[in-house]
Amino acid sequence: MLIVLRPGATAEEQRNVTDRIRSLGLTPHAIPGEDRTAIGITGNKGALDPALFACLPGVADAIVVSQPFKLVSREVKREDTVVDVAGVRIGGNAPIAVMAGPCAVESESQILEAARGVAAAGATMLRGGAFKPRTSPYEFQGLKGEGLKLLDQARRATGLRVVTEVKDTETLAAVAGTADLLQIGARNMQNFSLLEAIGELRKPVLLKRGMSSTIKELLMAAEYIVARGNHSVILCERGIRTFETMTRNTLDLNAVAMLKQLSHLPVVVDPSHGIGVRASVAAMARAAVACGADGLIIEVHPDPDRALSDGMQSLNVAGFAELMRGVRAVAAAVGRTV
Ligand code: PEP
Ligand code: MN
Repeated sequence: MLIVLRPGATAEEQRNVTDRIRSLGLTPHAIPGEDRTAIGITGNKGALDPALFACLPGVADAIVVSQPFKLVSREVKREDTVVDVAGVRIGGNAPIAVMAGPCAVESESQILEAARGVAAAGATMLRGGAFKPRTSPYEFQGLKGEGLKLLDQARRATGLRVVTEVKDTETLAAVAGTADLLQIGARNMQNFSLLEAIGELRKPVLLKRGMSSTIKELLMAAEYIVARGNHSVILCERGIRTFETMTRNTLDLNAVAMLKQLSHLPVVVDPSHGIGVRASVAAMARAAVACGADGLIIEVHPDPDRALSDGMQSLNVAGFAELMRGVRAVAAAVGRTV
């Protein structure tokens, strides 16, 4: 249920509405919006009767929300959410935000070279995993705390914002201490304890779609975070598992168009994991921008053939600069900037 207040409703009328919601054992959520004041209601087991609220002073409308995801839905908030990542805005009419860097932080020279290269080519955020969730326990697991320090050093050297993955609740405080944008990886999309803990923070989140998760499941995972009061959630399409074996995953650009329709949250696309083939990453980045992505996250390594993870899908700095040229041209064609 969504309660829309009349323009000019008083603070007392608003308080009266939230008191009524709480008195029914339900949870009110103020919905930030520019053109109206609205209060979302969660916690009801069955359908709520709009008449319970429609007659209260100051209420313009009580609307039943048909989707199982509520606070992240377009039904509840019509205008695009713009997420502010330490001064870089993503979503709405903001320029397309490009995050780029290696899959994993490997050394001081590697991360600094990557950071300087992607900054010069026009990226505004540096990606790089310090805590890496690897499929095999024998693969490189990341530099952990040392990797966070190197990301901080690269940020100070370049002014780039830092996006890095948080793998578990145990390391959340440490990662949140360094990250400007907390990445939740595909393998953790339904780690509900982690989603809840991040929902308590007031730090922007990049939530990646699970490799076998539906669009609805992605939105429900985002709902976990927003329901706890953290509204700064960015959705990320990174490819799903299909029968195809020529590519690592199948980049589901349908999801971009659907997510933009179903939700007000910004959508970022990861063509690197989405296709997994270096030579084709730029083509899919251009396609992502053409279909409405608000941002891109791209794997870039100074020496991809020697990368400790995901080298086969990583571009070198020159390849990334070339990708940016193509992305800028497509962005201009669809009325956006980069
Ligand atoms: C990554 O960004 O390097 C990564 C592990 O991505 P995903 O969680 O989408 O597999
Ligand atoms: Mn990777």
